[in-house]
Amino acid sequence: MPDIVISEFMDQDAVDAVSQRYEVVYDAGLVDRPEELAGLLAEARALVVRNRTQVTAALLEAAPQLKVVGRLGVGLDNIDTAACKARGVAVCPATGANDLAVAEWVIASAMLLFRLAFSARAQVIDGLWPRGACMGRETAGKALGLVGFGNIAKETARLARALGMRVLAYDPYVPADDPAWAGAQRFESLTALLAASDAVSLHVPLTDSTRHLIDAAAIAAMKPGAILLNAARGGVVDEDALVGALRSGALGGAALDVYEHEPLTQEYGQRFAGLDNLILTPHIGGVTVESNERVSKLTMENVVRVLEEGA
Ligand code: NAD
Repeated sequence: MPDIVISEFMDQDAVDAVSQRYEVVYDAGLVDRPEELAGLLAEARALVVRNRTQVTAALLEAAPQLKVVGRLGVGLDNIDTAACKARGVAVCPATGANDLAVAEWVIASAMLLFRLAFSARAQVIDGLWPRGACMGRETAGKALGLVGFGNIAKETARLARALGMRVLAYDPYVPADDPAWAGAQRFESLTALLAASDAVSLHVPLTDSTRHLIDAAAIAAMKPGAILLNAARGGVVDEDALVGALRSGALGGAALDVYEHEPLTQEYGQRFAGLDNLILTPHIGGVTVESNERVSKLTMENVVRVLEEGA
């Protein structure tokens, strides 16, 4: 039976390195075969997951020897952290290792949406040459409103400033005297931030207090024609309200990397059909070739540290 079970994709070099010292089962399809996963955990001391494997109290029951859950990323909403704590199971996110990837996704999406650069492909192919409809806006000088001012938001702010954007942020949990505010204008009200921003980017965890934080009322507070970027968690945005605002033209565009229900089914995806001002990606904001290597290496270092400390 394995010491370490890995249930979602990761960098093969990191798997190979740890396999020299531990019995490892690496099967990126295990996330979709929960009963098999539970069976493999009978004697395992470490479980490594991304964001899809549901680490529930029931799964922990099936893993009596478990010492550590390594998270290939940072959001912990798929892990019952209270149940882990109660059983003495350490939970180790790969903090910092994919911040740059998410920040670049935000900036690239914002630039494409401001510039209307992605919408003309079919018309150009059809020989329609839509120059007037494609006259977009520049990114420099625009106000980027960050909801949440943690690690990824700060990295996004760094890139935005380099492009000449003005950075605004709302995060009531970052004290007013935190040196990080030197790079951003601090807002004490979410509504005021939304009203002042040309682009709003979300960087909060999904919790009871952030679920549907961006609902119809919040969208109505945004500037007409502003854009919304969500590479945080799907449940933070009320998707029905967002789709309505895009269809009515109240918002200028949006980019979504995360969804209320993942992975999207074909049926569920139809709610977004026909919206030209919407960029959709399959939860890859934090996943690049480079970040996959960094995240995988850091996760395995975290897991091995716990296993060796506990040996
Ligand atoms: P972080 O913990 O460093 O920052 C989160 C910030 O949100 C904290 O500063 C916290 O004070 C703030 N916050 C919490 N509740 C808030 C509220 N109600 N209003 C305003 N601010 C609030 O986390 P991070 O590393 O910056 O990651 C942010 C989120 O991005 C993660 O929780 C995860 O869900 C998501 N994420 C997505 C991807 C992806 O691939 N799309 C990759 C990595 C992380």
